[in-house]
Amino acid sequence: MMFTERQQRARTLLAEHDLDAIVFCARENLRYLCGFTGSDGVLLLTGDFSLFLTDSRYTTQAREQVAASRIEEYPLQSEAVVTALREAGARRIGFETSLAYGKVNDLRVKGEAHCEWLPLREELETLRLVKTAGELAAIEAATELNAQAFAEVEPLIRPGAVEREVALALEFAMKRRGAEEKAFDFIVASGPRGALPHGVAGDKRLAEGELVTIDFGCRVDGYHSDETVTVAVGDVADEMRRVFATVLTAHDLALAAVAPGVPLAELDRIAREHIAAAGYGAFFGHGLGHGVGLEIHEAPTVSMRSKAVVQEGMVFTVEPGVYLPGSGGVRIEDMVLATSSGARLLTRIPKHYRNLLA
Ligand code: ZN
Ligand code: ZN
Repeated sequence: MMFTERQQRARTLLAEHDLDAIVFCARENLRYLCGFTGSDGVLLLTGDFSLFLTDSRYTTQAREQVAASRIEEYPLQSEAVVTALREAGARRIGFETSLAYGKVNDLRVKGEAHCEWLPLREELETLRLVKTAGELAAIEAATELNAQAFAEVEPLIRPGAVEREVALALEFAMKRRGAEEKAFDFIVASGPRGALPHGVAGDKRLAEGELVTIDFGCRVDGYHSDETVTVAVGDVADEMRRVFATVLTAHDLALAAVAPGVPLAELDRIAREHIAAAGYGAFFGHGLGHGVGLEIHEAPTVSMRSKAVVQEGMVFTVEPGVYLPGSGGVRIEDMVLATSSGARLLTRIPKHYRNLLA
């Protein structure tokens, strides 16, 4: 039922873009549209049928999981796709922009000469934009693991601890509680390393008087969590206290502005203006946030360039940051669900200023 509904929504793209078929290969889209959780397969969607193609490693799994009119096993993927398209009489064929150039070219060369291949990007991004209750349950299971793992690891976040060990302890705590996988390489950036927005955990030891930025998440039932906590180990310099207060207020202001119909670019602007007014405008170089779901970064983008507006059911991050080269940095990140009455926090770790040595 759920997959039938999703495939029907994907089918509306056929008419909108005058397509005969769409070839789906991205794992996240396969999982979303037909339930397949393996790593290799193709879903071919036309106006009246859906065909799932996979190799012998996954045939049994596909028969158990996949919702499609037909499931077929292939020895060679590209030939199976081309044959199926020929049988369907497809001439205009959409594909995901994430599909490797080599694969697209292979399909072009092997397929009928009259076929037109059209990349679909924004068109497909809207498919997974609004989350259902089932999807939210998986996301919240993942954010709950963030909270539990952080509570367990917090006593280790002390002067002398190695960044890499903190990261490893968080990963271990999440996996032991049932996380399928970590969502990305965790960032544990202490002191001056906090000025690197993507400083993955290294060999540096935490020192008293530093801020530590920890950006981490996991995956449960295919869905991700993503959260950033910045905490102090000991008393930090006044300037970094000021930076923390600035980032926290920017974060709070953006959260408070979330409501259906508000342009996503406006959320970015609200946070950015606050940071600029405090004199740190030049040190907030990234967008305010991003959608999270089956992919750790997915639609909607929350930045100055965003064209979309907040829609009920969207899940995205709000993660302003200020990075002062040589001194350190602060990022505070929460995941929110947009509801009719505003932002509902999905992440649970408190974000107020905390000195873990106090
Ligand atoms: Zn993050
Ligand atoms: Zn993020």
